Amino acid sequence: MEKRWMATIDLETLEVRADPEFRFKCLDNCGKCCEVLEIPLRDEDIARIEELGYNAWEFVDYEKLFYRGDKFLGYALKKRPFDDACVFLDPDTKRCRIYSHRPLACRLYPFIFVRNGKKMEVYVRMDSFCPGINHPNGEPVTREFLLKEYGDVIKEYRAKVLNE
Ligand code: SF4
Repeated sequence: MEKRWMATIDLETLEVRADPEFRFKCLDNCGKCCEVLEIPLRDEDIARIEELGYNAWEFVDYEKLFYRGDKFLGYALKKRPFDDACVFLDPDTKRCRIYSHRPLACRLYPFIFVRNGKKMEVYVRMDSFCPGINHPNGEPVTREFLLKEYGDVIKEYRAKVLNE
């Protein structure tokens, strides 16, 4: 997987240095990432989806496991057999049925956040199947964009840095 540096966030001051050329726009009725990607689930993701009334067996694939080195990270979001898409992707509208409760990995896609001391590096996966990457009508990755889309994630990391 090719990834490219996109921005660096100073977790103390919230200053952002970003690639001014990059643009991103998630396209309505696309759903390509919901078909192609395998999504890891954290315990919090499972609990949030269960709040909607689903049972874990309906959407957790207990046969697909994610590891980082020897550390178990979690199970995968289930795919359905007829089109290999996520079980929550509406096959007609290509919209997510649990959008407001979707797992963190879906929210972050196509970005990857990597904490590096008191900084957070933001990379983008240069996946050729995603038409939103460098879309001409896309939004630049500015401080406002990052805080609007991922303010809660940044806040969580920032709290860890300020408490160290
Ligand atoms: S593949 Fe890209 S544009 Fe399409 S739904 Fe996923 S993030 Fe949005």
